Amino acid sequence: MTKQISPERKKLYNAGLVLIIIGLCLFALPFLAIPIAMTATFAGGVPTSFPTGILAVPVAFVASFIGFALIVGGGAMRVVAARGKAGSGLVLDPEQAREDLKLWTGMAGGIVKDVLNEADINIGGDKTDKVVMIRCQSCQKVNEEDSKFCQECGKPL
Ligand SMILES: [Zn+2]
Repeated sequence: MTKQISPERKKLYNAGLVLIIIGLCLFALPFLAIPIAMTATFAGGVPTSFPTGILAVPVAFVASFIGFALIVGGGAMRVVAARGKAGSGLVLDPEQAREDLKLWTGMAGGIVKDVLNEADINIGGDKTDKVVMIRCQSCQKVNEEDSKFCQECGKPL
């Protein structure tokens, strides 16, 4: 069974990227605002538009701070989206983490896969108790492998 990446997680991943891009733009604002404010305020050596020009700087710094928060938040969203809640450490569930990390290992080109296989041995091996079921020929009821008669219709399996 291959684990499909849920659309929600894909959306989260892309939303994280958008947040980072917006964040980077906001983060860069002071670097743009300071020279703009300088030239606007002291154009030709005369303070032309003093209040508006100089006010752009603190506003830009506030925007920059928000931008930084967006970058961090967007990055966190992408980690959660890529690895799932378990893989990101939000939920402590080794089995689920293994499942969720399949996407991550796919992106890493299978390098992490070997590490995970090693880790699996340390955790305690593959503990999935697989119950083999057999289907009744006459009524299609699924029975346990070792049962001799169908639980539903009683016919021999
Ligand atoms: Zn049956």
